[in-house]
Amino acid sequence: MSVNTAAYQALMKELQPKGVQLVAVSKTKPVEDIRALYALGQRDFGENYVQELVDKQPQLPSDIRWHFIGHLQSNKVKYIAPFVHLIHGVDSFKLLKEIDKQAVKNNRIIEVLLQMHIAQEETKFGLDDREVDEILNGEELSALKNVRIVGIMSMASFVDDEQQVRKEFLVAKKTFDHYAHHQVANVFMQYLSLGMSADYTIAVECGSNMIRVGSKLFGARS
Ligand SMILES: *Cc1c(COP(=O)(O)O)cnc(C)c1O
Repeated sequence: MSVNTAAYQALMKELQPKGVQLVAVSKTKPVEDIRALYALGQRDFGENYVQELVDKQPQLPSDIRWHFIGHLQSNKVKYIAPFVHLIHGVDSFKLLKEIDKQAVKNNRIIEVLLQMHIAQEETKFGLDDREVDEILNGEELSALKNVRIVGIMSMASFVDDEQQVRKEFLVAKKTFDHYAHHQVANVFMQYLSLGMSADYTIAVECGSNMIRVGSKLFGARS
């Protein structure tokens, strides 16, 4: 087991006065590590892979709030729809529609974040400004009664250039602010999910109120 208890406690002390939520990213880590952080009070955990999440969830306490932070394929939504707390990586209307469909089947409302592409790297997923506008202003959106868009999620470039990272985070922040008072029934911009182990300090300075941190808490992934 490799949970860094001291790092967790220091991080919570730093985040709590700022009202920033921590999603502990437990992908590839054993359930024992999750239990160790749970024992310290952590309830929000993030996973990237559907199969891994579906395997872990029944082994762990039912009051854990599971965040799906990976790239989600439409055909896999059904496996996490019964219990997922927040889906961070929604990058198409098609996926939004499927989440709504599965939410209806499970008689619940599923909250999601739209993923914006802000990094220079082409490999990252996400919507640009115009595509976010299309979804949020689209006439079809109000028909999706069981899905609620509650914010924006983004990943910055993996670079040492702090100014570049800051510039990218601020693109997401601008869109988040623009839609903060959006008058659509199922859009309530509340969460700006920006920042990982390496760049969460910059993210919080740029207005992030939800960070996704893995390796700093659980150690490096192999
Ligand atoms: C893995 C991952 C994280 C956590 O990364 P660390 O560098 O380990 O903190 C955060 N967000 C997403 C989308 C991830 O895939």
